[in-house]
Amino acid sequence: AREAVLAASMGPGATSDGHAVPLLANVGGARDLESALAHGAEGVGLFRTEFLFLDRAEAPTEEEQEAAYRAVFDAFPGGRVVVRTLDAGADKPLAFLPPSGEEPNPALGERGLRLFRKYPEMMGSQLRALARAAAGTQAQAYVMAPMVATVEEASWFVSACHDAGLPNAGIMIEIPSAALRAHHLATAVDFFSIGTNDLTQYALAADRQVSGVAELQDPWHPAVLDLIALTATGAATTGKSCGVCGEAAADPTLACVLVGLGVTSLSMGSPALPWVRAALSRHTVTQCRTAATAARTALSATTAKSAARNELPGLA
Ligand code: PEP
Ligand code: MG
Repeated sequence: AREAVLAASMGPGATSDGHAVPLLANVGGARDLESALAHGAEGVGLFRTEFLFLDRAEAPTEEEQEAAYRAVFDAFPGGRVVVRTLDAGADKPLAFLPPSGEEPNPALGERGLRLFRKYPEMMGSQLRALARAAAGTQAQAYVMAPMVATVEEASWFVSACHDAGLPNAGIMIEIPSAALRAHHLATAVDFFSIGTNDLTQYALAADRQVSGVAELQDPWHPAVLDLIALTATGAATTGKSCGVCGEAAADPTLACVLVGLGVTSLSMGSPALPWVRAALSRHTVTQCRTAATAARTALSATTAKSAARNELPGLA
């Protein structure tokens, strides 16, 4: 069945009535590029750059970073490649930074952009390496920051990118305050990408790493769907794009719902791409919207999923 889906569904992502939804890959380095290309990714929607910084005694040099970024850009000439700046924190500590002390709640602490801002040299070096790598390739380079909570943080990051020669600068929406104020944040950035893994964790106050609360860590929860809808609407009213790059995009049913909520591209682990491409190709954008409305009207994650499935008859 897998081979049949793969063979039947290459080419750009779109609904059955031709509404384009670029399907992009989440990658963690050059080793993931082969799989992204084999599964027909149209570009990269999330390039996690942590691999360059973790588990080593010294920070990577600018030259080393430039080469690693260029390898990913070069895999998609003409395509979109969205690079996320370093997302480290107490849960993913960096050996070459002074210890920041124990944090009782690492998910709520100095991580992502918060940590990045504290070390301007490290940040400057990553942005310079990205700008140089982007200048020498044919990919459309986009850069985004993780863990943005406020308009001030968003504006600050976007200015830093623009100053470094990176014109397409956006943010991840993975904190509820950012989703709730998306209409304001959208005016400060070039694009959004929703991180549903963290957005779900923070919306339901359910730590991603704690198995005892795993049941609450479900992006089908209507509260999460509401936050995604607010984000997509905030982006649309200012003409900005709004992707999803969390695990939710890899669920074919939920992918249709995300499109119905107004999400403009989907990025996922490469093996899911053919399944999501097939699910979208069997439904109109109106069916996706009806499914999204049905899911948001439900009272629980479980009933949201079944309500959406009822509206999407083309799912296997
Ligand atoms: C997310 O939070 O949904 C996301 C894509 O980022 P990560 O899983 O790397 O935190
Ligand atoms: Mg995240």
